[in-house]
Amino acid sequence: MTLPAGVERRSVDGQTGLATRGEPVYGEPTDGEWRLWNPHRSKLGATIEQGIETGLDGEERALYLGAASGTTVSHVADFAGPTYAVEFAPRPMRDLVGVAEGRPNLFPLLKDAREPETYAHVVEPVDVVVQDVATRGQADVALTNRLFLEDDGRLIAAFKARSEDVTADPDAVFDRLLTELESGYEILATERLEPYHDDHLAVVATPER
Ligand code: SAM
Repeated sequence: MTLPAGVERRSVDGQTGLATRGEPVYGEPTDGEWRLWNPHRSKLGATIEQGIETGLDGEERALYLGAASGTTVSHVADFAGPTYAVEFAPRPMRDLVGVAEGRPNLFPLLKDAREPETYAHVVEPVDVVVQDVATRGQADVALTNRLFLEDDGRLIAAFKARSEDVTADPDAVFDRLLTELESGYEILATERLEPYHDDHLAVVATPER
């Protein structure tokens, strides 16, 4: 698995892990301009750590759904090109706006990811959609945001079983979500995110032609 340009495996403060170059955001260890990317705090970081082929090269245009306070999307903006960050909760959005202040390619959008028509006038076609919304209807969110993806673009999603159904067997939930997703995507890879995140499934997919 190749790391995107701008992401390196480095030793920082006695810890070895993925790192990107940018201002620190969440108290992560730093070494000069490099900062560690904590896979326990980031589903995308865990996805890359698991060795899944994400197709990320660096410099891509990105749409990030479920940006929260900016932990993961800050790393994305460190290695990607224009990065649109959708979050619907005002409180984390305040932090995200602060994270974007030092990152001119990061554009926070206080929007609901279930309503892409409300940000379609702002977001350009993108090479990658990263999704971590932890809400019911995760496959629907991926399907409705497909419109932003280039034909050869990638969806990189982390599906959380308990957000769909707290009592159901996670494998059954993931099977249902993948079946729904297949109505608009070709699935390229899936992998559980333990030990970093319990009951989460990483999915890499491309729009179905
Ligand atoms: N991706 C973040 C990170 O790694 O830094 C953590 C995301 S947290 C697990 C999920 C986030 O998705 C929450 O901040 C929540 O408010 C947001 N969210 C849930 N449903 C959403 C929706 N429909 N539209 C936009 N954001 C949503």
